[in-house]
Amino acid sequence: MIEGVTEKDIESISKLYQKAETEILDAIANSDPTKTASKRKLLRQIRQQLQDLEQPTLEFMEEKTLAEYKSGIKEVDDALEDVNLEGGFDVVDSRAPAFIISNADAILEDARMELESVLSNSYLNIQKVISQTTQDVQRELLSQIAQGQILGTARQKIRERVVGTLLNRGITGFTALDAKGNARNYSLKATAERLVRQTIMNGRDSAVLSKSIEKGSDLVKVSEHSGESPMCQKYSGQIVSISGTSDEYPSLSSIMFSGDYTRGGGIRHPYCRHTLIPYIPTKIKFN
Ligand SMILES: [Zn+2]
Repeated sequence: MIEGVTEKDIESISKLYQKAETEILDAIANSDPTKTASKRKLLRQIRQQLQDLEQPTLEFMEEKTLAEYKSGIKEVDDALEDVNLEGGFDVVDSRAPAFIISNADAILEDARMELESVLSNSYLNIQKVISQTTQDVQRELLSQIAQGQILGTARQKIRERVVGTLLNRGITGFTALDAKGNARNYSLKATAERLVRQTIMNGRDSAVLSKSIEKGSDLVKVSEHSGESPMCQKYSGQIVSISGTSDEYPSLSSIMFSGDYTRGGGIRHPYCRHTLIPYIPTKIKFN
């Protein structure tokens, strides 16, 4: 588990996104999508609401990721304090995850780009749903004559349908596979939460791995926690080799989720909460 970051910390970010989702849906419910000027104003407002999420999310991720990075370095230093190691080794495993050799800055930069894409894609999805629904409803009502009445009905219908569609899609229109490999819609809030969590965890794991490599300690252990996903349950507490050269333990890359659900699970699937901790083999002397 990430040590310095509590569920309450993460919740502060979730609440921010939840509030934005509600405000966006409220703005749509109070708009007149049949009027171009009103629609434009609505879209501007939504774009701003989404943009306003970026800064606080980045600040939170930066603060927590750097703290976890520092804490990960210290964890390895403390664990290896009394251990004599040669120091340093090469990671020969070609499938080794990129964040092994990454640093906190690179991790944060990746996260910044992903967040920007999440927010701009959310905006594009909302824009698309509004335009599409407006067209659809107007087409449906076109045959129903009586100009004055139609506008009132259309407005209401469009708003209801837009809100319904966005709620179904979780605002974002993001689909991803869940732990069972089924496509699922993830809300803006859930998507942001996943990104924040993963970034902080990448910070910690990257520190643990790079410091272990620097010190010459090849083994790390997968953390154990309650409520583990079936995707990675069997790897809980597993000891792995960073370099991939151990005769005794599997390589780290071999227990990582490949991104392909048909090839089975692994740690670091979306929403995974496992982190890596330093592991020092106990030397047993036989006299
Ligand atoms: Zn997991």
